[in-house]
Amino acid sequence: MPLFSKGIILEQHKEPALSKNILQYPSEPSFFANPYPYSEFPSIEQLTDIARRANIIDEHDGALLADKLSFSSTKGHPVGIIADALDDDPYISSQLALALHQSDLISRGLHLCAVALKIKSICIMVYKNIYDLSIQIPTMIKNINVVRIKGKYPAENRIDNILGKSKRKLIIGTGALLHLARAVDENRIQTTCFVTVSGNCIAKPANVEFPIGLPVSSALDFCTVALDPTRVVVGGSMTGKSILDPSSELLTANSRAVLAFEDRRERRAFNCIGCSRCTEVCPQELAPFLIYKYTALEKYDELYRFDVARCDECGSCSYVCPAELDLADYVIKGKNYILKKMSDSGVTSASEQQDLIHRKNLKKLKKRRMRFVVITDISDSVKQIRNSLISVKRSITANNKTKKTQEENRP
Ligand code: SF4
Ligand code: SF4
Repeated sequence: MPLFSKGIILEQHKEPALSKNILQYPSEPSFFANPYPYSEFPSIEQLTDIARRANIIDEHDGALLADKLSFSSTKGHPVGIIADALDDDPYISSQLALALHQSDLISRGLHLCAVALKIKSICIMVYKNIYDLSIQIPTMIKNINVVRIKGKYPAENRIDNILGKSKRKLIIGTGALLHLARAVDENRIQTTCFVTVSGNCIAKPANVEFPIGLPVSSALDFCTVALDPTRVVVGGSMTGKSILDPSSELLTANSRAVLAFEDRRERRAFNCIGCSRCTEVCPQELAPFLIYKYTALEKYDELYRFDVARCDECGSCSYVCPAELDLADYVIKGKNYILKKMSDSGVTSASEQQDLIHRKNLKKLKKRRMRFVVITDISDSVKQIRNSLISVKRSITANNKTKKTQEENRP
C-alpha cells in the first residue's frame, strides 16, 4: 500500500509564467468538413462522436477523450467529474493557467460532459502547496468548486480522496475540456496543445498554445533562450524525458512542458552514500538505491524481489539523492523490463503479477535453501572424515602403545 505521508515538498517556480495570459503561436485552426446541427447540450453519443471527430487527446493520461466518454457511459458509471488542473511538478502550469485564464471554456467543457453523462458532482482540482504565486487561486471558478490537494509531491496519489475512495470519478485535463468546448461550439478539430516553456535558460517563461507537430526548438525560440541549456526536458520537470536534439523532437497533443536548464552539476558514477533518503520519500515504499544497483549491473532477475512494477515514475528519488544519481531512470528501466517479462509470459492482471512475483521469490528462496542444504551436507561429510581420521589416529596410537609394552616386557 502506498504511504501518502511520503514524498517531498518542492519549490514550485510557476511564476512568472502562470500570472501572464496564455500566448498564441501563429497557426491556422482546422474545422469539421460537415458539422452536425447539435443542440446546446449534445447527448453522450453525440458528444462522444464530436470528441472522436475532433481527435481530442486528454493530456491527463494521453487517452482519446471519446474512448473515456464512451467507457464512462457504458461501463464506468462515474459519480463525479474532476477537471485536472493539478500541475504539482515544479515549473509546469499549463493546466492551471487554462483553469484561471480560459475559465469560460473549461466550465463549458465540464458542463457538456456532466449533462451528457447525467452527473451532478463536478470540481476543478489544483495543488495546494504553491507559495510563490503572484495571483490568487479562487475557491470557485465559474461557480465550480476548486478542490485543493495538499501535502507532498506526488499529489496525484491523493486524487482518490476527492469524492471518496470507493467512488468512481472521471478525470479530464483542462486542455481536453477546452478542446471539447471548441469542438462543440466552433466545430474545431484539436490541432494545438498548451505547453509551459520555462527553466533557468528561458528569458520569457510563458504558457503558450502551440500547433501539434512543432519542433521543440521552435517552442524554445518563441520564449527566447537566454543561456545555452545543458539539459532540455519535455514533459514534466520530475517525470519528463531529457532530449538531445530539440530540433528533431516534436510537440504532441499531450506535451505539457518544455523546460531548458543550465545544469552545472557533474554526472557521477555510482556513488551512493547510503543516506536512505530515496527510500524515505518513495510514495510506493520501494528501495530505489537497490533497484538502481541491480539494474545498472543488468541483474534484472534480482528485481522481482523489490516489487519494482509498483513504481509510479514520480521522480522523487532522483530529486532528493545527494549523490545525484539518476535513480528514477534506472527504476523505470527495471520496471519496464519486468513488465515486459510479465506480459511475455501472458500475465495481465495485477493479482496475476503479484502471484508471479511471489512464485519467482519463492523459487529464489528454495534455491538459497538448497545451497544451505548442500553446505550442511558438506559439513556433515567433513565431520565424518574428521571422525574417521581421529579413529585412525587413535588406533595407530593404541598399536604403538601395544608395541611399546610388548618390547618392554620382552626378556
Ligand atoms: S520514481 Fe519510483 S522508485 Fe522513485 S520515488 Fe517515485 S515511485 Fe519511488
Ligand atoms: S538517496 Fe542517493 S545516496 Fe542516498 S541512499 Fe538513495 S541512492 Fe544512496
